[in-house]
Amino acid sequence: MDNAQRTPTPQDLDTLSRQLGRPVRDVVEIGARCVCGNPLVATTAPRLGNGIPFPTTFYLTHPVITSAVSRLEAAGVMTEMTERLARDPELAAAYRSAHEAYLQARSEIGARSGIGDVPEIAGVSAGGMPGRVKCLHVLVGHSLAAGPGVNPLGDEALELIAQWWTRDRCYCEGAWDVQSEAPSKDLSRHTRTQGLSQADLDAKRAARQGGPRPGDGGTMTGEDA
Ligand SMILES: [Zn+2]
Repeated sequence: MDNAQRTPTPQDLDTLSRQLGRPVRDVVEIGARCVCGNPLVATTAPRLGNGIPFPTTFYLTHPVITSAVSRLEAAGVMTEMTERLARDPELAAAYRSAHEAYLQARSEIGARSGIGDVPEIAGVSAGGMPGRVKCLHVLVGHSLAAGPGVNPLGDEALELIAQWWTRDRCYCEGAWDVQSEAPSKDLSRHTRTQGLSQADLDAKRAARQGGPRPGDGGTMTGEDA
């Protein structure tokens, strides 16, 4: 995509919040778009506004794709891919190249967004790259942002979800709530990382809403400083 297509509009940010069910933050670009123009992938700054380094650059946001990829994960595709990496040197080399491409893309995003290098995460990509597969959503997000031929396992996962989602069609209708007010309170407190299950997220939310915990000194600050 060119710069104009990458730049998030207020409408894009509203759509991302609806897709994720929470306000987005630190989104510097749109990594990939549906044929209709809606975001598929949010590109997050390599350093968040609160100063924390953030290695997961490409975050899959479209609910149709995220749930299709979750089905693959539940079916054990990650284990199978990781085993193939161990015995297929050609695949392993291509996957290592994907890791390098990820780092390169992040460096370019850091430069474009004015954030610059983030030495704390130098050499660290995401999703288990370069040696394992730990989150298919990350690999698919990378494949969608980079285009075919860059991340072999992300490309493969896209082929495996073709019965539920393909690049050439719009699957946005009814995929998220467009009627209600957009989510405005960041209940997540910390930026979520791709790969947390809904159960994990619900547990975290419940823990946060449970009031002050022992050791909190009885004060609630509401937000991290
Ligand atoms: Zn669409």
